[in-house]
Amino acid sequence: MSNLNQVLDALEAVYGVQSPGWPTDPYLFLVWWHCGYPASDAACAKGWASLEREIGTDPERLLAANPAKLALALKPGGMVPELRAMRLKEIAERVQKEFGADLREALRGMPLAQVRAALKRFPNIADPGADRIVLFGGISPAAAVPSNCPHVLVRIQFGQERENYGVIYKEAQEVIAAEIPATFDARMRAYLLLKSHGQQVCKRTNPKCGVCSVSKLCAFFSGKTRGRAANQ
Ligand code: SF4
Repeated sequence: MSNLNQVLDALEAVYGVQSPGWPTDPYLFLVWWHCGYPASDAACAKGWASLEREIGTDPERLLAANPAKLALALKPGGMVPELRAMRLKEIAERVQKEFGADLREALRGMPLAQVRAALKRFPNIADPGADRIVLFGGISPAAAVPSNCPHVLVRIQFGQERENYGVIYKEAQEVIAAEIPATFDARMRAYLLLKSHGQQVCKRTNPKCGVCSVSKLCAFFSGKTRGRAANQ
């Protein structure tokens, strides 16, 4: 396996110091995540800008908003704005009723397993989303992995990734847990650099290995472990 810090240094030399392009507060992240569909940074950013301008993002404003107007405000973010409007009202209501209107503070007082379970009860939040909220929201320095590119780390360290998403995600998490110090700064840095690399070069299909800055450190590129069992 490559030294992960060496890999991250090489990625940072190309992409620069990264910072999150989304709201890191847990409640606001849940709102942002529903501002676009299919959810992507670009779609969510468009819907978020429109929502902030037309309605606002506070729970009170979302709950008071006319459903049709709320859906209209979410439309720039993509498909199913009516459904996303309903989800936002559900999130706002639950944050007010179950978390005393301050989700971050409520989560900070809970054991980590309970935090993750609470987050996964919100719509469209599975393990990767919960880990991301926990890490960037300052709850715990979790070994979070970008949900759309756990394959990056697995390719670099092990070669050919497996078919099963859950297995790939878990393998990537284990590498981060083992090699990146459990501090917020170190784990956020790893998350953001791997995300940039997955979006720009090490794409899910057709990775651009020929122009990759870490190809010399990558097991997939060297072909050493290609062909390992792919159906787990
Ligand atoms: S060499 Fe290819 S597989 Fe390895 S990290 Fe770079 S783009 Fe991804």
